Amino acid sequence: MSDCLFCRIVDGEIPATVVRESPTTLAFRDIAPQAPTHVLVVPKTHHQDVASLLAADPELAIDVLREAHAVASDEGVAEGGYRVLFNTGDDAGQTVHHVHAHVLGGRVLGHLG
Ligand code: AMP
Repeated sequence: MSDCLFCRIVDGEIPATVVRESPTTLAFRDIAPQAPTHVLVVPKTHHQDVASLLAADPELAIDVLREAHAVASDEGVAEGGYRVLFNTGDDAGQTVHHVHAHVLGGRVLGHLG
């Protein structure tokens, strides 16, 4: 989708700091990090949110989760603890409608809610 920001990053049209790539996913640093490690993992194909992804291609959802954990390991935060979250829909504040896992770590993150 040419009007999708993350599709354009996947296509190399918009620069990003890529930290990992697999045949089906791309992981890059969030432009406005909320923690010392803040990486986004996206599938290379366009799916609006995690619910759409799971309905269309559950294997690809597993790829995204696997890569999220690999990012945490690469960044050295897997041992201490990290957070993976998918903002889904307006109430969660999803602003980019191409599903993405936030991988957050490197500091005590506190409780949600
Ligand atoms: P969400 O609010 O869950 O949709 O998250 C979207 C995330 O994308 C936010 O954390 C933004 O900081 C991040 N973001 C927006 N534009 C870019 C970009 N060009 N490169 C990397 N991250 C971005």
